[in-house]
Amino acid sequence: MSDSPSPERAGEESTEAVLPDGSGDGTRAVRAGLPEPVKHEPTLPGPVFAAHFHLPGDPTGPYTYGRDENPTWTLLERAIGGLEAPGRSDVETLVFASGMAAISSVLFSQLRAGDAVVLPNDGYQVLPLVRAQLEAYGIEVRTAPTGGDAQLDVLDGAKLLWLETPSNPGLDVCDVRRLVEAAHARGALVAVDNTLATPLGQRPLELGADFSVASGTKQLTGHGDILLGYVAGRGGEPMTAVRRWRKIVGAIPGPMEAWLAHRSIATLQMRVDRQDTTALRVAEVLRQRPEVSALRYPGLPDDPSHAIASRQMRRYGCVVSFTLPTREHAERFLDALRLVDDATSFGGVRSTAERRGRWGGDAVPEGFIRLSVGAEDPDDLVADLLRALDRAAG
Ligand SMILES: *Cc1c(COP(=O)(O)O)cnc(C)c1O
Repeated sequence: MSDSPSPERAGEESTEAVLPDGSGDGTRAVRAGLPEPVKHEPTLPGPVFAAHFHLPGDPTGPYTYGRDENPTWTLLERAIGGLEAPGRSDVETLVFASGMAAISSVLFSQLRAGDAVVLPNDGYQVLPLVRAQLEAYGIEVRTAPTGGDAQLDVLDGAKLLWLETPSNPGLDVCDVRRLVEAAHARGALVAVDNTLATPLGQRPLELGADFSVASGTKQLTGHGDILLGYVAGRGGEPMTAVRRWRKIVGAIPGPMEAWLAHRSIATLQMRVDRQDTTALRVAEVLRQRPEVSALRYPGLPDDPSHAIASRQMRRYGCVVSFTLPTREHAERFLDALRLVDDATSFGGVRSTAERRGRWGGDAVPEGFIRLSVGAEDPDDLVADLLRALDRAAG
């Protein structure tokens, strides 16, 4: 339980396998974080279950106690870091028990009583709860919408700017480079919630952000069976404080979850390409329907988010949102779907949809649907959606 240094700071030799320069996303995903091959060892070593490690003599890192470090995390952290910031050895990545654990670790490790933070007012539905907790600790919280870079207007004197782009569930996009420039000019750090885009869709650190933070529960791992979070950022005092926070709070992933996540990342490129391509097709089909309004998908050329998204994103995600005329109409639609589960969350290989208003947290109309496009055959999925729309229309 010593304040053990990270493997990097301990000066450990990296045993990470090196990829050929210019490798594509599929190659990088299947090889992400793999160690150098060792005869008779597996390609991806299995989960290491250990609360403590043999540690005779002076307690030196990396592996001392299971809340500080675990070899299964180390490989996963290298995998995620390699996708968030290819070719950058100065970037450190830390995995957490959930996306919220990762988000809280940045906010609560960077902010002190008297500081000001700027959050989106249309972001993830737990942010209002986080806001109340920050305020209870004497931190000033300002909010503004994601669209139109409106957070710029409340930046003066802030210590940290929190962006979520594309925003969940409204799918608005802000100009990360522009906001980072403005924040850095005022001495503020910038964190971007990269959950919806995944590191294959957007690389916030390359756009200048100080932290890329995400829920790995969604498309990053993509099977709807684990919770995970991570923070990636340039090594230095801010990341040291995030690491310390993880140790204090103990919001750590189990080795089994970490290993499952790493295994899932091998198929990330195939999943995002399939799901995101189908999402665009689904959006194009939905827009033909008279009962569908307020359709949003950043990949649609005439979507309000498209101009900025096409400059800073490499893929547009698997989430499509739209509004049906009434709550009852939306419920009939969800009931009639056969290939799309009525469930929350998004990013999984099995399509899901939900009436977002049922939670009460988001400012959305009663008929608002968030649809997460899975890896089913696109023709089957489109047919199911159209059949359900016909049935719901009665
Ligand atoms: C789901 C989600 C989170 C929270 O992640 P958990 O893994 O559920 O804790 C944070 N941000 C966004 C944008 C999300 O969609």
